[in-house]
Amino acid sequence: MIRSSKINALRRAGVLVCGDDEFVFYKCRNCDAISLMNEELLQLYLNPADLSEGVLWATDELPVQCPTCHAFDDFVPLEDDERVLVLKSDWGRFL
Ligand SMILES: [Zn+2]
Repeated sequence: MIRSSKINALRRAGVLVCGDDEFVFYKCRNCDAISLMNEELLQLYLNPADLSEGVLWATDELPVQCPTCHAFDDFVPLEDDERVLVLKSDWGRFL
């Protein structure tokens, strides 16, 4: 699991942060597009260029679609050895 350590940068970018929220990088299992999950509020952020709004991703809520490949609900946490994927992406500044 890869956590963001740049909480202040996330906040400045518009992410709603309340208290001790944990932000974990996820990827779409279908196309490897990276996203960021607030594990406390279950908010998934899909676009690093616009962090003003997350989508609620929870089992009893509406399915969430990957904006890149349009697969539904196929997000998984990145493994520790996948940090380079985050670094090379537009999410790198939040790692
Ligand atoms: Zn995808």
